[in-house]
Amino acid sequence: MPTLHENVSLKSFNTFGIESRARYFVQCASTAEVTAAVDQAAGRGWPRLVLGGGSNLLLTRDFPGLVMHMSNRGIALVETRADAFVVRAAAGESWHGLVLHTLDAGWNGLENLALIPGTVGAAPLQNIGAYGVELESVFESLDALDTQTGAVVTLKREACGFAYRDSIFKGVARDRYVILEVSLRLPRNKPPAIDYADLRAWFARLGVSQPGAREVCAAVVAIRRAKLPDPAVAGNAGSFFKNPLVAADKFAALKVFYPDLPGYAQPGGAVKLAAGWLIDHAGWKGRTLGGAAVSQTQALVLVNRGGAVAADVLALAQAIQADIRARFGVELIPEPVLV
Ligand code: NAP
Repeated sequence: MPTLHENVSLKSFNTFGIESRARYFVQCASTAEVTAAVDQAAGRGWPRLVLGGGSNLLLTRDFPGLVMHMSNRGIALVETRADAFVVRAAAGESWHGLVLHTLDAGWNGLENLALIPGTVGAAPLQNIGAYGVELESVFESLDALDTQTGAVVTLKREACGFAYRDSIFKGVARDRYVILEVSLRLPRNKPPAIDYADLRAWFARLGVSQPGAREVCAAVVAIRRAKLPDPAVAGNAGSFFKNPLVAADKFAALKVFYPDLPGYAQPGGAVKLAAGWLIDHAGWKGRTLGGAAVSQTQALVLVNRGGAVAADVLALAQAIQADIRARFGVELIPEPVLV
């Protein structure tokens, strides 16, 4: 069993920088340590919380059980196929570190997902995505401890129930699996995706029509740095709301009143709205509530102005949800996991 710590502050373990204390806390650097920690929690009847980078959660209370911080490491090429490299990474690796490692090795495909905070193990939870690439499109499988059976299992893509910023690990299987390793299938000879407006504009400015993966990575890093508040400066959990999906006729009705409203047609006929546009248009950018605020540069991000408590963030989020519902008749769903 790894060393058990008691009454540990989680402030430095969540990117929102919210103060909350764990009754018990362990670092898990191996599968054996994860198994031992899970067994101990089960034996004592403690609830468990697995933490990666703490970048997509809001801690709303002190945690009364065992917090397991994943700190296992390792990145390896496990298979070279005609059409892809299969790369395995430990859950405790930094996601952005993995992106840079793969690009340095000449394995492309993760460039659009550069600078997303958090760990490799957390990436499947919300099927991380940015600039038109979602984890599921490069996902091969993951190894996880099934806490119901005590066995380490391999789950393929179909078993993970990936959807837009969602998976079984946030829903039906929440708390069942501890993700230990993730394997990615990185396609060979596939040109990078640069369909998103910010990326297109970036390369148009440079006069580059077919950028390489490393150039796309550099562009994503620069664009994100300019738009998204750095958690080291103003605590945040990235996008606070998912982009809502609405029916095509609802989108058409909204367009009558808001001709500039962006919408992206989805397979199946629904239209994805940009939650950030709705929030910005409703005048929320920069507004504050207690220690929480809506970012000045990206309306989709709620930030900790210093000393925010979870209640501030939740009250601000609820005020935004109510206003967007009243103005547009659209429901905003939070993206981070509330603990
Ligand atoms: P943006 O370019 O201002 O666009 C606003 C929204 O419109 C995005 O959220 C994006 O949806 C959607 N969109 C834009 N162009 C699209 C296209 N060609 N096809 C389909 N949908 C399109 O977005 P942004 O806020 O600067 O973010 C850029 C990217 O980084 C987005 O993909 C966003 O999801 C990602 N991001 C993720 C987080 C996070 O915490 N998970 C935080 C910040 C940014 P999608 O979100 O579905 O891509």
